[in-house]
Amino acid sequence: FDAVGTVEKLLGVFREPFTIDGRELILTTSIGVAVFPDNGESATDLLRNADAAMYQSKEAGRNTYSFFTKQMNAMILRRLEIEEQLYGALERGEFEVCYQPKINLRSGRIMGAEALLRWHSSVMGSVSPDEFIPIAEHTGLIVPIGKFVLAQALACLKEWGRASGQEYTMAVNLSPRQFRDQDFIDYVKQSLRTSGVAPERLEFEITEGVLLIGQACVDDILTGLHALGIKLSMDDFGTGYSSLSYLRRYDFDLLKIDRSFVGGITTNKEDRDLVTATIAMAHSLNLEVVAEGVETADQLNVLCKLGCDVAQGYHFSKPIPARELMDYRLTDSCMVGG
Ligand code: C2E
Ligand code: MG
Ligand code: MG
Repeated sequence: FDAVGTVEKLLGVFREPFTIDGRELILTTSIGVAVFPDNGESATDLLRNADAAMYQSKEAGRNTYSFFTKQMNAMILRRLEIEEQLYGALERGEFEVCYQPKINLRSGRIMGAEALLRWHSSVMGSVSPDEFIPIAEHTGLIVPIGKFVLAQALACLKEWGRASGQEYTMAVNLSPRQFRDQDFIDYVKQSLRTSGVAPERLEFEITEGVLLIGQACVDDILTGLHALGIKLSMDDFGTGYSSLSYLRRYDFDLLKIDRSFVGGITTNKEDRDLVTATIAMAHSLNLEVVAEGVETADQLNVLCKLGCDVAQGYHFSKPIPARELMDYRLTDSCMVGG
């Protein structure tokens, strides 16, 4: 049986557009191949392994095929263990919310923070959100976990305001899955009420991926949140697909430039040109620009010159626990030039 020949033929068919109702549609295919008996002796094992190989193809940019490998097996086992350990992690108190300060570049002062979730698993040790959030989304556990993050973040903001006498803002990341939760808006309203935080002090960060799912509930929830007075921020800008049309379609208040561009602004002309153009475009759409992942004084200097509004990153501080945030102060050496 010639798997490669069959797969190539399938991919070939999908390279041509399909004509439906007079419109040309292009579909991509991602194929995973598992071979009997090396990659499994039962249909269940073979399908599971072909599925893992298919994910590999998607990650490789779609429209391709991958054979199952031993490393994929290790990946599946790790995913399964994370999934298993995620159940009950909230109840066992294994989550902590850390906060990364955000600095207003015009005033040179702290203006707020972003809440970032940390998981200290009793069995697996610390697991990065990039690894466990997608699994929490997949299982739906992100719904209760997301509620926990919001409650913690609002309580922290309240406390921070009391301790400093300042009106700071708090940014909280949202997952697509949370939009499907019927009482999400009600939960947000109620949380604002119990914490006594004004809606304008809360920002929700949403990645383009959320919008890509293109469900009606996304429109309803974004409109609902905006009507409450909460700020909406487009996270990881520049890494997704049709960012510009989303910016026009939804009422975003802020745009966060992905740290992969910020990392290159002092060394790579293309990155600097892209950041320059993004800031100009965002400003003409009345959006404030936040640069994430600022690690050096040189990067900060360039961002100030380009008119970027807000910055966050290791140059100022890593994400820190709530009690450290209360004592966080900017040092003079952080704010250079400008
Ligand atoms: P994000 O929202 O884009 O968060 C920024 C990430 O960059 C954070 O990673 C932060 O620790 C990291 N970072 C900040 N400054 C620097 C820097 O100067 N250099 C470098 N190299 N990295 C920096 P983290 O905390 O690992 O979070 C990863 C992602 O996980 C977040 O990306 C966000 O999409 C997601 N996430 C984190 N917490 C939550 C949450 O409570 N809910 C949801 N839905 N997603 C979350
Ligand atoms: Mg974020
Ligand atoms: Mg980001």
